[in-house]
Amino acid sequence: MKSYRKELWFNIPSRRGFVNITAQVEECLRASGIREGLCLVNAMHITASVFINDDESGLHKDYDRWLEELAPHEPINQYMHNQTGEDNADAHLKRQIMGREVVVAVTNGELDFGTWEQIFYGEFDGRRRKRVLVKIIGE
Ligand code: ZN
Repeated sequence: MKSYRKELWFNIPSRRGFVNITAQVEECLRASGIREGLCLVNAMHITASVFINDDESGLHKDYDRWLEELAPHEPINQYMHNQTGEDNADAHLKRQIMGREVVVAVTNGELDFGTWEQIFYGEFDGRRRKRVLVKIIGE
């Protein structure tokens, strides 16, 4: 069995944002040489997500509005976590909803997506360098 590991780095210039990372994951798959197996992609930070959905800008604005309704950033003092001196309790909650990781089947050297599926990095506490892990196993 072959195994491949790579860290992708991101520095989102705003507090929140979504980035389509499908092409970068496909580049990892090409580099791995793996034709049949599984590809795991996970955020390595507890205030960021990796998820699969449609690459449609209206949907991304809907996510942002929905997540702000569920866990508004302000007022900061509404969260017990922020009593530690942090201001990112909302980002932890948003990450929990949007998820930590995705696993995609690798078939015949390609990511075996359903229709319209794309992989996204979701940032909820940006303006600093953060990592995503890509791990691919198979043969
Ligand atoms: Zn925190």
